Amino acid sequence: MEEIHKRRSLSSVVKSGEVPLKFVDAHIHLSDTEYCQKVAYIIAEAKCCNVVALVSNSMNLETSVRSIQLVKENAGFVYAALGIHPWSVTNLTSDELQRTLDFISQHGTNREEVVAVGEIGLDSRYAKRREIRDLQFRVFQEMLHAAEKLSLPVVVHSRWSAPKIMNILPSYNLKGVLFHWFSSPIELLPQIIERGYFVSEGPPTVFSSRTQDVVRRVPITNLLTETDGPVSYHGPFKDKLTTPAFIPQVVKAVAEIKGMAENDVTEQVLKNFVNFFGIRNLRSQVSSLS
Ligand SMILES: [Zn+2]
Repeated sequence: MEEIHKRRSLSSVVKSGEVPLKFVDAHIHLSDTEYCQKVAYIIAEAKCCNVVALVSNSMNLETSVRSIQLVKENAGFVYAALGIHPWSVTNLTSDELQRTLDFISQHGTNREEVVAVGEIGLDSRYAKRREIRDLQFRVFQEMLHAAEKLSLPVVVHSRWSAPKIMNILPSYNLKGVLFHWFSSPIELLPQIIERGYFVSEGPPTVFSSRTQDVVRRVPITNLLTETDGPVSYHGPFKDKLTTPAFIPQVVKAVAEIKGMAENDVTEQVLKNFVNFFGIRNLRSQVSSLS
């Protein structure tokens, strides 16, 4: 707990007499085994840093089940995105795709718990063999179809595959698309924005010129903040466990890049979060919902 308070005082979240900023982590893998024994600490720390909500993304069936469990244990703070990640395709057991689809349709109608299908997508670096590439594609199509049927937005992993993903998406009537940790090709950004898709960026906003360039080009109305924990980072985050407590530093960097006040960034990002994921019980926290 001492560490929690140390982090809070470092984050310059609240200045005396001011309304505290409200932060969100739109993409974290709280269901990852690395967090297993630390969830209670991470959530207490996040709340201490004025993080008001997070979306626990899934990698496969096992982590989808775990995400739902975490939502039930932390109602109103943790929300779930269910799905199969392109990296998980190589280890997919014979009936796991169907069982995951069944699990998503069983839980995906409960909007208090499930707010997206994710993390899904394509990653050509993880699919050197043709059969894996084909399977990745098939799993992605099934996930998009599930999202369409349930009227849920999707959280997309697009490393090395963004142009291909952009070609596939219009075939589905999707509630929303979030390109999480979008990095390249940067030339796709105008089209991403024009289609009304969202982009989420995390800790590299503090130290990576490439990510800073993305943040500069994405309007604040299309931007979300994330950590993608437990992925670990360089810069000021080196050798630290990635947690939502990193978000205030991400917001500070976004504010600097965009020449905005931090409270204007947090207000708009929270509004984006509530609208994108359709989280009703957070609506009262947003002063002006458009
Ligand atoms: Zn992720």
